[in-house]
Amino acid sequence: MTTTTVLDHWIDGAPSPGTGTRTGPVYDPAQGVVSKQVRFGSADDVAAAVRAAKAAFADWSQVSLAKRQQVLFAFRELLLARKDELAQILTAEHGKVLSDAGGEIARGIEVVEFACGAASHLKGEYSVNVSTGVDVYSLTQPLGVVAVISPFNFPAMVPLWFFPLAIAAGNAVVLKPSEKDPSAANWMAALLKEAGLPDGVLNVVHGDAEAADALLTDPEVASISFVGSTPIAQHVYETATARGKRVQALGGAKNHMLVLPDADLDLVADSAVNAGFGSAGERCMAISVVLAVESIADELVAKIRERMSGLRTGDGRRGCDMGPLITAEHRDKVRSYLDVATADGADLVVDGRDVQPDGDPNGFWLGPTLLDRVPTTSSVYTDEIFGPVLSVIRVAGYDEGLELINASRYGNGTAIFTNDGGAVRRFQLEATVGLIGVNVPIPVPVAYYSFGGWKASLFGDAKAYGAHGLAFFTQEKTVTSRWLDPSHGGLNLGFPEHD
Ligand code: NAD
Repeated sequence: MTTTTVLDHWIDGAPSPGTGTRTGPVYDPAQGVVSKQVRFGSADDVAAAVRAAKAAFADWSQVSLAKRQQVLFAFRELLLARKDELAQILTAEHGKVLSDAGGEIARGIEVVEFACGAASHLKGEYSVNVSTGVDVYSLTQPLGVVAVISPFNFPAMVPLWFFPLAIAAGNAVVLKPSEKDPSAANWMAALLKEAGLPDGVLNVVHGDAEAADALLTDPEVASISFVGSTPIAQHVYETATARGKRVQALGGAKNHMLVLPDADLDLVADSAVNAGFGSAGERCMAISVVLAVESIADELVAKIRERMSGLRTGDGRRGCDMGPLITAEHRDKVRSYLDVATADGADLVVDGRDVQPDGDPNGFWLGPTLLDRVPTTSSVYTDEIFGPVLSVIRVAGYDEGLELINASRYGNGTAIFTNDGGAVRRFQLEATVGLIGVNVPIPVPVAYYSFGGWKASLFGDAKAYGAHGLAFFTQEKTVTSRWLDPSHGGLNLGFPEHD
């Protein structure tokens, strides 16, 4: 008889089974087996986590900046020391190869490091004698209980985009990670406890829409940081802002790479393959469309194809280049686009269905796929596929490429490959996209800038991390103060003027 592990919530500094009765399966996608069950939190479980957070907030918000930073420094040290353990968890539940899991953790640690300097970033302003004997200064205060709802594709990095900054600013957090790969969240919560974080400052409630919707409507939750698909991001934004919450909801993407004729085609081909098939294309910053100027398109497609022939798809623990997709359903959905592509008249240059994976035959496999001459009317082009499918569209030149980029409903990331500085200068100003790469295919900014797209890739006006992140998790007060001066006084009902 086999026993199945059930992953608990993490509430008030300890695992908690909660009261919800539903659970969901967590797969090892490279083996196609259920490795554990995860609890699906009820509205009561969310309320319990919010209560714990609210109670913890009362003290945590009063803890000195120095002490808060010390906890984050300790967390950073522990993360560095034990990152291989976390990478194993990511690979076992998400499927991404171990080296890619390591990269995800490294990018998450960058945000922790930025949060370690929060005391400096949270400084206010002070003006002496704005009027005679009157000073004005600003101060920042935390929001209270803040919620984070994260997607499956970065089970460590995306939560790390938010909770270190929220905690540094003095908030208490309820995190609802993806139900598909939930273990990293508990692992990080336990590590933060080891680093000295008081119980209740970071809570994890697992589950699906029921738990998420309870967070969106809980009156004690001050803000929602959401990352996921566009339809749910829009739902989150509309539901939570209608209840007066502060919301940053990052949505889906369809990222184009525009290749001009003077580009270094070897660099372009390497970049397209890395950015198209890394993490099996399950990245919001994956390149899914190469816009190749017709004069170099044949040569570029040949170079991409040649590189793809060397890729090894298989179990992420075996040193392969690309792992499986997250679930069988998602794999089947991605695969179904290949039939659509051929029906719509695209050329199937490399068919990922032919892949021979280095892994269990029951894994959720689909190999790297290359499509050429994809019509812009095809759903292969207009939908976010979120898998290892790279489409090439041939364009006459810069203007046609830019037009396609700007006509897309998404505006997460885009890249231009060229050695023409004038074209780059125009592109960075003209593309209606939030994150621009110049000869860089996945322009995910460092932690001291902010991450976020435009259009249907971000609902709300605050991006993730960097200055936007700290501003999102704090509210500013402006104080106008005058200390009693016996020479001053008298009635004056006019609007205050400065003298
Ligand atoms: P998803 O939208 O299916 O799920 C995201 C989260 O929302 C999960 O935690 C899920 O449980 C939760 N959820 C489910 N129903 C909900 C509801 N009614 N209200 C609130 N939350 C609910 O996304 P996914 O499949 O986990 O992740 C892939 C998607 O995320 C892709 O579209 C990808 O582009 C996007 N993504 C975007 C970014 C970005 O920065 N823009 C980053 C990573 C992923």
